[in-house]
Amino acid sequence: MNVVELIRRAAAHGTTRFAFELLPPLKGDSKRSVYDAIDPLTDFDPAYINVTYHRESLKRTKLPDGTFEEHVVRRRPGTVGISAAIQKKYGIETVHHLICGGLSKYDIEDALIDMDFLGLHNVLALRGDKRRNEPRFAPHPKGHAHAAELVRQIADMNRGRFVDGEAEVCHRTHFSIGVAGYPETHGEAASPEEDLRHLREKVEAGAEYVVTQMFFDNARYFDFVRRCRAAGIDVPIIPGLKPLATPQHLTVLPEVFGVHIPEALRREAEARPDAVREVGIEWAAAQARELKAAGVPVIHFYTMGRTDNIRRIAQSVF
Ligand code: FAD
Repeated sequence: MNVVELIRRAAAHGTTRFAFELLPPLKGDSKRSVYDAIDPLTDFDPAYINVTYHRESLKRTKLPDGTFEEHVVRRRPGTVGISAAIQKKYGIETVHHLICGGLSKYDIEDALIDMDFLGLHNVLALRGDKRRNEPRFAPHPKGHAHAAELVRQIADMNRGRFVDGEAEVCHRTHFSIGVAGYPETHGEAASPEEDLRHLREKVEAGAEYVVTQMFFDNARYFDFVRRCRAAGIDVPIIPGLKPLATPQHLTVLPEVFGVHIPEALRREAEARPDAVREVGIEWAAAQARELKAAGVPVIHFYTMGRTDNIRRIAQSVF
């Protein structure tokens, strides 16, 4: 069953399902580390599991003759393989993240064909961030500048349209497409209204649901949903939660993701610097309970690969 169907069913039954996001293993690591992160969470009947995609970076290596060679490296390759492995081992739908950054339309088409053959029919279509050391996001010369264009490519493929025209034999794909949304507005957007217009573009291009950036104040999510509905965005909007886990998160998360840390959470974390993980669990669990009471069909948890805290939250909510 595809993810949008799972979301609709949960909404129809008035239940709130649990879902979470994982990173593929670091290059050189085995799939065991990913399974070890998933195993403790299977008790909570996850609706689906998202697997992130990590773009390439440029590495400069000094050669024996003193000159330098630049080459492309990917610290976390393997999203297609690990998504298929998880789906096969656990029988749980996986949502493969796919980005525009660093990829041509042809690379993307190849990845989608692999995914289709492997039974991966759920995609979260994203633009991705700029490459480290680049001043701003630069699309691949034969790629996409915005996630809406990637959504359009995937939706076209579902209609049997390939990048360079019709294929002779046309097997139709059935990708269910999700996209990202930002309750506190994406950092590059000219205004919240502009950001919503672009989100609407993604939905009009074929996205069936939205997953939000993390937020620590539910009022911001509820306000975002209200603004989306007023802007004509009527697809499900799945809230994304990340528990605060280290004292550094108090500065890093606002800097990197442009999210606001409520004063009460900051005070509590600063008062208990040795117990920030515990503070984060309590805060996120309270957020999840309120979202569940409000009737959201699914809550998406950002794990960053460690899931002991997510298990504690799930135990108290689902
Ligand atoms: P877009 O929707 O393209 O928007 C990016 C910016 O461009 C916004 O400011 C938007 O307002 C603006 N914009 C959009 N369309 C236009 C237009 N036509 N003209 C002018 N401006 C426009 N990153 C990864 O690398 N890998 C992942 O696995 C990953 N997973 C994520 C999962 C979730 C749930 C979320 C919320 C984010 C994730 N990201 C991931 C991060 C994401 O790639 C970044 O936030 C990125 O900067 C924006 O991606 P987007 O898909 O929202 O881009």
